[in-house]
Amino acid sequence: MSSEHDEGREVGDGFCSECYGLGHSRIVKRDVKGFREIYVRAFECEDCSRKTEEVQLAGQCDPQGVRLRLSVPAGDAAALARRVLKSDTASVSIPELEFEIGTGSYVPFTGDLTTISAVLLRACKNLNMNQSERRAADAETAGKIDTFIMELEEYAEGKHAFTFEVEDKAGNSYIEGPAGSAANGACEGGDPLLSVERFDRTPAQESRMGLAMPDEFLPDEEGGAAAAGGGGGQPPASAPGRLILRVEGQADVASFMAAYAEPAELSVDAVLAAPAGIELPRVCGVCGAAGSAGFAAALHRPAAGVGLVGGCLVARASCGACSATSAEVRSTGGVPAQGTRLRLRVEGPADLERAVLQSASASLAVPEVELALSTGSEGGVATTVGQLISLLATQLAGKPALAPGGGGDAAEEATDWADFGASLRAFAAVERPWTLELTDPLACSLIGPKPADAAASRTEDPQVQVVRYERAPDENAHFGLAAGGGAAPIA
Ligand SMILES: [Zn+2]
Ligand SMILES: [Zn+2]
Repeated sequence: MSSEHDEGREVGDGFCSECYGLGHSRIVKRDVKGFREIYVRAFECEDCSRKTEEVQLAGQCDPQGVRLRLSVPAGDAAALARRVLKSDTASVSIPELEFEIGTGSYVPFTGDLTTISAVLLRACKNLNMNQSERRAADAETAGKIDTFIMELEEYAEGKHAFTFEVEDKAGNSYIEGPAGSAANGACEGGDPLLSVERFDRTPAQESRMGLAMPDEFLPDEEGGAAAAGGGGGQPPASAPGRLILRVEGQADVASFMAAYAEPAELSVDAVLAAPAGIELPRVCGVCGAAGSAGFAAALHRPAAGVGLVGGCLVARASCGACSATSAEVRSTGGVPAQGTRLRLRVEGPADLERAVLQSASASLAVPEVELALSTGSEGGVATTVGQLISLLATQLAGKPALAPGGGGDAAEEATDWADFGASLRAFAAVERPWTLELTDPLACSLIGPKPADAAASRTEDPQVQVVRYERAPDENAHFGLAAGGGAAPIA
């Protein structure tokens, strides 16, 4: 299926995640019939010959979302060996097992290019990861998970017929056709095992907010379903170069740069003097194009008045070859001794025009409706109060299936959920006052002034309360700030 298969270009060495041996990566361009041209980072380990393929997706998005349903007959090795691209915006589910693998990937803005059976086996591996501790703490749950893993392995080996469903709101996923033919049902004569449904995204889905659902809305492991998406660790918060915020796409990057960065690029001298850890890429991270092929990157200072505590620089990259565009806010080092909790009392329409920068480390809450969300690892949000609450209203109201399902009255829960959505919509219209709370252990989030106050250079803002607080030991550990602090647990 890769008609333009070339040997690609070497992009360097790396360590194998399986045996920690040394391996090599190449970036290969492939034209996937029925999908599009993709750039694959292919890794091969010298020691254990493990091969992985990761697809770079930054800035790419199909006009529509896609829902793929592959009926895998029992004992059909060819169906199990079909290639599948699961992007970081895709979830995979197996309805027969009530099992779902959530969105997200180890490296943001990439997808795993693998096979149907490998997806299931990897889920088994992820589920198995914390089993020894779980066995000690809760033998009953561990036993149920063991049973489930064995069942899932049987599915991966083709002992049962099942449905493999991929839902991707960005349309960045595919399942190849029989015998490596065109993907997503575009093969000649159609694909008898695959149903392909395309759908228009809601405005909420359009935004790449990267908001994670609160834990209580995730399926309960005991119920037989578990979220097995990899979370990934993060570098210590005090290391220069830590990602605070990432904006993608030409339009979003342009408006972000206009509002939050000084227009002048830093000179070569200033770039050289930037703290170690902040480095500008020399080639496009998506397609590998170099400067001569239209790739450009530059460092900017944050605009005056954007008081991101602790210091930061803005790195902008744009590629003329594949049109990927991004802006990243990266810290220049120091972490304040205390975290901050910003509390905005939203009282009128002017408050909706305030800027909000929610850093990658911050969580968001609307106490009036007991809403609490963490950003996950996707790199923060740059938006306004009004956009933020409207998106939450649409995004959360569109997900009744995520309401807790634990034995309660279903009709009652549906009503509660509808009330919840209605409250958020009322907040978006400022029908009554409400509170937006941003808690950031690393103190690099921001709620801007009302436009009129900013124009008049008024610094007093009675509606914003800033509370500084001592980080809890587990917060320090999470961000690598305490001795012996580990990275965030996976899954
Ligand atoms: Zn290896
Ligand atoms: Zn590129």
